[in-house]
Amino acid sequence: MVSLGCPKALVDSERILTRLRADGYTMSPDYAGADVVLVNTCGFLDSAKEESLAAIGEAMAENGRVIVTGCMGNEADAIRARFPDVLAITGAHQYEDVVGAVHDAAPPELSPYVDLIPQARGGEFTTDSADGGIKLTPRHYGYLKISEGCNHACSFCIIPSLRGKLASRRIDAVLREAEKLVQAGTRELLVISQDTSAYGVDVRHEERTWKDHAVRTHMTDLARELGQLTDASGQRPWVRLHYVYPYPHVDQVIPLMAEGLITPYLDIPFQHAAPSVLKSMKRPANEAKVLDRLRSWREICPDIAIRSSFVVGFPGETEADFEYLLDWLDEAQLDRVGAFRFEPVEGAAANDLPGAVPEEVKEERYARIMEKTAAISAAKLQAKIGRVLPVIIDEVGAPDEDGDVGATGRSQADAPEIDGAVYLRDVDPNLAPGDIVAVHIEDADEHDLFGAIAQA
Ligand code: SF4
Repeated sequence: MVSLGCPKALVDSERILTRLRADGYTMSPDYAGADVVLVNTCGFLDSAKEESLAAIGEAMAENGRVIVTGCMGNEADAIRARFPDVLAITGAHQYEDVVGAVHDAAPPELSPYVDLIPQARGGEFTTDSADGGIKLTPRHYGYLKISEGCNHACSFCIIPSLRGKLASRRIDAVLREAEKLVQAGTRELLVISQDTSAYGVDVRHEERTWKDHAVRTHMTDLARELGQLTDASGQRPWVRLHYVYPYPHVDQVIPLMAEGLITPYLDIPFQHAAPSVLKSMKRPANEAKVLDRLRSWREICPDIAIRSSFVVGFPGETEADFEYLLDWLDEAQLDRVGAFRFEPVEGAAANDLPGAVPEEVKEERYARIMEKTAAISAAKLQAKIGRVLPVIIDEVGAPDEDGDVGATGRSQADAPEIDGAVYLRDVDPNLAPGDIVAVHIEDADEHDLFGAIAQA
């Protein structure tokens, strides 16, 4: 990225880079190593325009695959007249368009083992970019990446060798970015990293100043501050924590959920429950008392939704281990579950473990875990019929032949892309994505809820 112009343009550049990093892109220090060059231009003065055009010219000469954004992007004709071969031109603050142009120019390679952005619901990752490719984040929700890398050594994972040790972002920078997102219309913040509960461990939870008070680089402080951000009309965003390992201090964020400061939702990738499998997976925070912890979290915050993912067919997983997992799921009563069949990832230690599980056994176990978790989900959703729940709107449909308009949204228990939906009938056509409305739940199936706007 070549970033020109004022501090505001620089913040835009940072925001674009943050989004691209969250999508799995890395930045190249030189033209030669880049798949595509982004030029964030300034168009304020004629001299700045000339400087912008010169920068575009240099990028075209050095690399040839160039996307132009920023203030001068509003003068697309002038740019095209000089450089007809630029790949795309977008204007200032058009983050989604820029990120979309980068996706088109250099499609991200999807991997369930590396990517943080959820790919698809129902437990299946897909690398078919036409279907399961990373979708652009609509303006009403946004991913907030708080750190990069990981200090663990899970045997199936290559993240630590690819991305290095945990490197936490400064908490004041994260909060500033979140505040900008919220002020620009983001109604839901999705906190992501490889290991959210470890946030700040690498910097010994150093303190920074945020709005005249000290905050630690720590998940609890981050959650509390995010929950207090407000947009211009005083509304607070939903704040959803992803990739949380159940370290003891996770207990501290549950009261914040009970208070309504952050969304009562935790995404905890347990991966398995059988002690021997967890041991050979080398999972962090692998402790026996997880079920007790879940119980006490639900006592403090009865509405908490727990999402998790599990791997079946890990090397050495016996039928008894798998049944242990199914029994554990019966006890844990998780709200949302994704399951994956174990696949070796090049370079992962697990590939050398003995006891490979035959493909047909993996398939059979996968079908059994999906059946089990679908039944748990269906029962949990049935219990919501009759309640009035807050729902964030994702999409408003076109009127049908009778003029009725439907909408799709999500409850607080549903993260975008991976969890269920709430389908609304007969909504006001003026409803817009990002609106949060009270919905009377009328029906449910295995994964989704159905309802109508609650009458005041
Ligand atoms: S915690 Fe384990 S699975 Fe997650 S990124 Fe670190 S090594 Fe990989």
